Amino acid sequence: MITIENELNAKGVPSPRGTKWRRTIIRQQVLNPAYIGKRVFRGEVIGDGIWPALLDDEDTYWACVRLLQDPSRTTTRAGRAVHLLSYIVRCAVCDGPVSSHLVSRRGWEGQVYSCLYKRCAAVKAEFLDEYAQRVVVL
Ligand SMILES: [Zn+2]
Repeated sequence: MITIENELNAKGVPSPRGTKWRRTIIRQQVLNPAYIGKRVFRGEVIGDGIWPALLDDEDTYWACVRLLQDPSRTTTRAGRAVHLLSYIVRCAVCDGPVSSHLVSRRGWEGQVYSCLYKRCAAVKAEFLDEYAQRVVVL
């Protein structure tokens, strides 16, 4: 989340309010049920909207909501907050949780998201974070 905030501001991308991005704005964007095609009235989902869902995976959306609204989750602890997609995305092979960790191998070092159960799949964190960032900005 911090990475996304800094990158958007560094690239000069304005927030929907025309201001600099802040964590609270990104959070509101991510939490907006309009992305899964839901209509909201006074903070409650009241039914389907007439627009198509931008994110067609409702499970992912609600996993995001649960994570971001978890009161035990602190945004100052590095490692949890920075890697936005940890425990939100599921492995496409075994459906296990996907988590971010530091990998150091053959002279390359960096953050990677990988399947926590069987290591079926892994992707450089920067690729997946960039994808998530595009979804947030849309
Ligand atoms: Zn897996």
